[in-house]
Amino acid sequence: YGPDDGILVTQGLTKRFGGLTAVDDFSFAVERQEILGFIGPNGAGKSTTFNCITGTFPPTDGTVWYEGEEVTGEPAYEMVKRGLARTFQSFRPLHDRTVVDNVALALVPDRLFSLSGLRGGTRERAADLCERVGLGDRLHQTPDELPHAGLLRLELARALATDPDLLLVDEPFAGLAGGEVESISTLLRELREEGLTLVVVDHNMRGLLSLIDRAVVIRFGSKLAEGTPEEITNNPEVQRAYLGG
Ligand code: ADP
Ligand code: MG
Repeated sequence: YGPDDGILVTQGLTKRFGGLTAVDDFSFAVERQEILGFIGPNGAGKSTTFNCITGTFPPTDGTVWYEGEEVTGEPAYEMVKRGLARTFQSFRPLHDRTVVDNVALALVPDRLFSLSGLRGGTRERAADLCERVGLGDRLHQTPDELPHAGLLRLELARALATDPDLLLVDEPFAGLAGGEVESISTLLRELREEGLTLVVVDHNMRGLLSLIDRAVVIRFGSKLAEGTPEEITNNPEVQRAYLGG
């Protein structure tokens, strides 16, 4: 792959932790305005791949391009400025702040800025974002009062606060009931219709396949297969390695 193969492209991405190779020569390209699924079992290297791309830590080896420019090893705040946002597998809201304030704090560049210093416009925009993700009636609750799906919506609102073009979503469906998976999927599809590109990770293939346009199946930190949901489902190697078929 090269810089112009997609909005986000990696070539030979590798991350080692001591003797453990968590991401191993992993190359992929994300097309603009698609929903790409990353499917792989726990420990396959999905979150580590996100971490290398979003500047949590630099990769050991390989190249990352975003919007045609090389961004390998750029720090998180630079990637956010470029339009890349992510959600975390374990959400970390501020428990003593309201839902709307948690989103408002994601809107100001310096998170140490006191809330009393926030201008009215910031809170209004935060309220709009809460509305957008379905939390319009929970603005003044604390995160602890939200059901699990509500916390995920809050995490999505906080990511959207940075006005991204590409959103990496880590394991959104973990711990959700079937109906909630469907309503979160609907929200993610709407965001795509509004112009966002999405990469969605899950270890549960069935939940993810109905949402995505295309999937990359990851195993031991590298690509086992890629294709449309139908191609993935019918891929003998995927069936052997993943579905136990
Ligand atoms: P996934 O998200 O696909 O479940 P991860 O990317 O979290 O997998 O982990 C891949 C491998 O890397 C696992 O063996 C995990 O224990 C290891 N790993 C992840 N992060 C670290 C870290 N910060 N330090 C050491 N090992 C890590
Ligand atoms: Mg993970």
